[in-house]
Parts: sequence; C-alpha cells; structure tokens
Amino acid sequence: MERKIFQCYVCGQPEDRCSCDKYCVLCHSDYGVRLTEDGQYYCLDCRDACDYKTQDAV
Ligand SMILES: [Zn+2]
Ligand SMILES: [Zn+2]
Repeated sequence: MERKIFQCYVCGQPEDRCSCDKYCVLCHSDYGVRLTEDGQYYCLDCRDACDYKTQDAV
C-alpha cells in the first residue's frame, strides 16, 4: 500500500521540511501542532476532537 505523504497546504513541503509558522487553523493554538491529511495544522486538542491523524498515525 502506497503511503501518502502529507504536505503543507501553504508551501507544499512535507512537515519536516515546512518552515511556515505552525499554529492550529481552528483555534490558533500552537500546542502540539501537527500537519494532518488536509495539509493544514491542528493542535492536539482539535486533532482529538475532530479525529484528524498525523503522518505517523496513519
Ligand atoms: Zn509550510
Ligand atoms: Zn486547535
């Protein structure tokens, strides 16, 4: 199964190469912010609430 690489919606880079300001697009928190499948960053709480997965959780 091919593994999808999540890419930042803004710069098109994968998370480890993205140098954008990282903050949650929902609540603007920077707590535990990670890139998710839709190319946007979400904090830990919003990822839990919305069941968004990070690259290494899929
Ligand atoms: Zn970026
Ligand atoms: Zn949030």
